[in-house]
Amino acid sequence: MQPSLTFTECQAMRMISHAQNALPNEACGLLGGKSEHVSTVYPGTNSEYSSLSYLLDPVDQWNAMKAIDQSGEDLIGIFHSHPQGLAVPSETDISQAYYPQATYVILARYNEKGWYMRGYNLVKGQIKEIVLRMLTAQSTILNRGSRSH
Ligand SMILES: [Zn+2]
Repeated sequence: MQPSLTFTECQAMRMISHAQNALPNEACGLLGGKSEHVSTVYPGTNSEYSSLSYLLDPVDQWNAMKAIDQSGEDLIGIFHSHPQGLAVPSETDISQAYYPQATYVILARYNEKGWYMRGYNLVKGQIKEIVLRMLTAQSTILNRGSRSH
């Protein structure tokens, strides 16, 4: 099966609003969850306050990692935005990808307010696309229902 990352519409909105609020700069944050299922979005501060690069604030990173640990999640994703570019990893994104297990989610704009996102696995300079699946409110309810039986 093709590797994928699944999140809810609500979690997608959280990433998008974080990206929108950080404009004109890049936004970043972490995704906690289990295997390919995101359970929590941890928006963070881009301590570089740049529109071309990001560095997750160390305190935000520490707090998010602690929360991930305490809730029994794993760090399964790292997201950031490209306010001016496409949703493809930059040279820097590739060279500074220190988490081979994580999916790197990149948000980019297709217009003033609209964002789209793509996911990648970045290991040793290799780029592999990860399928992003978004559960709609409807399918989240359906999944919950089926899981309890
Ligand atoms: Zn980037």
